[in-house]
Amino acid sequence: MSTNPSKQINILGAGLAGSLLSLLLAKQGYQLSVYEKRSDPRNAQIAEGRSINLALSLRGWEALRKAGVDEIIREQALPMKGRMIHNLEGDTHLQPYSTDGKSIYSVSRSVLNNILISQSEEKGVNFFFDHFCEDVNLAKNEAIFRFSGSIKTIPSDLLIGTDGAFSALRSVLQKTPRFNYSQHYIAHGYKELSIPPTEKGAFAMEPHALHIWPRGGYMLIALPNMDKSFTCTLFLPYDGEKSFAALQDKQQLRQFFDQVFPDVVPLMPDLEEVFFQNPTSDLVTIHCYPWTYNGKQLLLGDAAHAIVPFYGQGMNAAFEDCRLFTEMLSEKPNDIADVIFQFQKDRKPNADAIAELALQNFIEMRDLVADEAFVERKKIEKELYLRYPEQWVPLYNMVTFSHRPYSEALYIGKKQDIIMQEVMKQFSKASELEDYASIIAKLK
Ligand SMILES: Cc1cc2nc3c(=O)[nH]c(=O)nc-3n(C[C@H](O)[C@H](O)[C@H](O)COP(=O)(O)OP(=O)(O)OC[C@H]3O[C@@H](n4cnc5c(N)ncnc54)[C@H](O)[C@@H]3O)c2cc1C
Repeated sequence: MSTNPSKQINILGAGLAGSLLSLLLAKQGYQLSVYEKRSDPRNAQIAEGRSINLALSLRGWEALRKAGVDEIIREQALPMKGRMIHNLEGDTHLQPYSTDGKSIYSVSRSVLNNILISQSEEKGVNFFFDHFCEDVNLAKNEAIFRFSGSIKTIPSDLLIGTDGAFSALRSVLQKTPRFNYSQHYIAHGYKELSIPPTEKGAFAMEPHALHIWPRGGYMLIALPNMDKSFTCTLFLPYDGEKSFAALQDKQQLRQFFDQVFPDVVPLMPDLEEVFFQNPTSDLVTIHCYPWTYNGKQLLLGDAAHAIVPFYGQGMNAAFEDCRLFTEMLSEKPNDIADVIFQFQKDRKPNADAIAELALQNFIEMRDLVADEAFVERKKIEKELYLRYPEQWVPLYNMVTFSHRPYSEALYIGKKQDIIMQEVMKQFSKASELEDYASIIAKLK
């Protein structure tokens, strides 16, 4: 099939969104090239950069299915059925993500990225690694790359920026009239740590869960890997009493972990080395609009809407961008500019909504999951979902296990929140409540 072979599409960035998008477009018959500043990640000995594993959920799976790679990736994915909460005493309890056994999946960022690049290459996509995009000439729609000490200028019919939170294309769009842009760093940074397999080569904790040590203003989480290790991420304020600034030496670090994560310490034999070796990274939300200048460029994924990672939706939203955009394009292949203008208009409110939800979920993860009233509220919502599955779908399910636009999920979630705040004033325990129908009636 060849829908529009005369159009040359160039993609900036062969990260998660760029590599998936190239595969989806190649399947529609487009000629395309992808330019990436890194070297070919398939030759890298060690996965570099952020979060070694990620939580993949329905929206991401659907895009992978459309690209025809879901089954290959499923073989490399570990299901996580719920949150395993670790309290200060080291006791654990599982909070399932859904009543009907749905899971989110832990996948390796590099495995996923490498599969997508290889599959795209097989479909004829040209990848140019070690090409750093320095500038874009919007009038000519040319991207300017630095490659091996020389400069290359590449023209495009369509130039797509999937070059991440610090996008080169976006920085050029920022200088155009009426371009809106904001970035916001939260007070927390993150650091990756690791729990190796046990001496017998087994997982050191329950593998089918996303582990959380919620501690109020901060938290530790852990996701399982196929090699039976866990990648842990410590989210901590940069400054203050409990902060990265307060952990300056091995003794302070050890004291802090002994005090607040005592059950983790025996599982992390090289905590001190890894902690001081690994970087502390920032967490940013980026809003911008429009995502094109004249209908010949488009920002997608983190380049258009970087969000904090607390809903596990950044990649999922980026993959959903790719699916929705290519579906729209397949319907109107001769009206690329129209498709781009329509796509950004439809998608922007959803990008804003997931950005808001992701910030909200940080509070839930680091604090509320350990709160008794919150746990009782979740029980009531679970019961509502069981009794009225069409009328009351909990917010987490809408975001993670449905294709409902994020903006609708946010709106409905706010409505549910107002109702549940009233309910919780009257009943502190789920067992005290009998009249579920009256709660449903409040939705009208
Ligand atoms: C700690 C953490 C945990 C996360 N966990 C999850 C999770 O569990 N689930 C989830 O869905 N999301 C998660 N995310 C979000 C997810 O990582 C991003 O949303 C996702 O990587 C976005 O993909 P992208 O392709 O848009 O950008 P990126 O993955 O950043 O890819 C951008 C690519 O562009 C390249 N590039 C950049 N600049 C240039 C240039 N000038 N020239 C050429 N190439 C360039 C980069 O090298 C890179 O390869 C997490 C993020 C963080 C920070």
